Amino acid sequence: MPFSIIRADITKVKADAIVNAANSSLLGGGGVDGAIHRAAGPGLLAECRTLGGCETGEAKATKGYDLGCKYIIHTVGPVWRGGSHGEKELLTSCYKNSLELARDKGCESIAFPLISAGVYGYPKTEAMSVAVGAIADFLADNDMDVTLVIFDKGSYAAGSKLMKDIAEYIDDSYAEARDDSRIRGLVGNAASVFRRKRAEKCAAKPAEPEAFFETEDAACEPAPAAMGAAMSLDAYLSAKDEGFSECLLGLIDRSGMTDAQVYRKANIDRKLFSKIRSDPNYKPKKQTALAFAIALELSLPETLSLLSKAGYTLSDSIKFDLIVKYFILNGRYNIFELNEALFAFDQSLIGC
Ligand code: ADP
Repeated sequence: MPFSIIRADITKVKADAIVNAANSSLLGGGGVDGAIHRAAGPGLLAECRTLGGCETGEAKATKGYDLGCKYIIHTVGPVWRGGSHGEKELLTSCYKNSLELARDKGCESIAFPLISAGVYGYPKTEAMSVAVGAIADFLADNDMDVTLVIFDKGSYAAGSKLMKDIAEYIDDSYAEARDDSRIRGLVGNAASVFRRKRAEKCAAKPAEPEAFFETEDAACEPAPAAMGAAMSLDAYLSAKDEGFSECLLGLIDRSGMTDAQVYRKANIDRKLFSKIRSDPNYKPKKQTALAFAIALELSLPETLSLLSKAGYTLSDSIKFDLIVKYFILNGRYNIFELNEALFAFDQSLIGC
């Protein structure tokens, strides 16, 4: 997956470049800086002494020493002073400059801590949105595996208006699903009372109630013929004929986007995309199929139709499905923002 968010200790993450949230002296400190220096060993401090410090928003590289990565990229995040002192621009520069430095040094993967969100006091949800936005901008034009490593156990689900709206949507949908099942339960009870009475009646007068049975049973359970009538057999068969890959490639052609634009927008690795392109029988994971639906900005019915090609659907009782649905119904087709929300609600991310 080109972009992922995980909970981990960054000193244990494998990547070509590990980013350090340093202070401007580059001579070590607490938090993630201290952890990286401890894991890398004294050679790191010796090299840092030769660098002459680093300005806020800038980035400088050293070797990885005992950390096992090719490079440690040191960047200095802004101290939070209320948000009106250029903090967002400076934090964005930290990510942008670190990513460009890693790319220029030939790195294929990089891991970031949540810069400035510790002792520098940047509110965590906002720090994450800035990180996600800056990384998304970079990945629109570059191929690299970027991991945002979250260390603390706190919840990110209630941090912003968007997250609150999503939480509300999930609660409302769960409530509706509960009401539906309650109504279905009442209908089911009525039907079983009816069936019992009917059986009693039958036992008393066996020859009489043919028509009565058909009418009442049809009201409780849809007849197979009625279900089939919604779609002609021709339409059904041709829809069935086209596999996921073929359908996806057709949609990409119609979208006017290039393959690269689509797989990047879908947070899908280039190699996986080639595999899907060349294998007409490719069976994607649900997360992969959804990633393409988001990248292609499909409506909800179109998304469901694409999902059905791979044997999936979206349920109103599953949190992951509801979050994806919320984004589609609100026309929010930014997969990075969607993954930020999925992470905040402890769900698996989409893309691959
Ligand atoms: P800053 O001074 O930029 O705020 P900190 O090190 O205090 O830097 O915190 C930055 C972020 O790094 C915080 O979100 C903190 O939870 C996180 N952090 C601390 N230790 C680690 C670690 N070992 N791995 C990943 N992240 C860490």
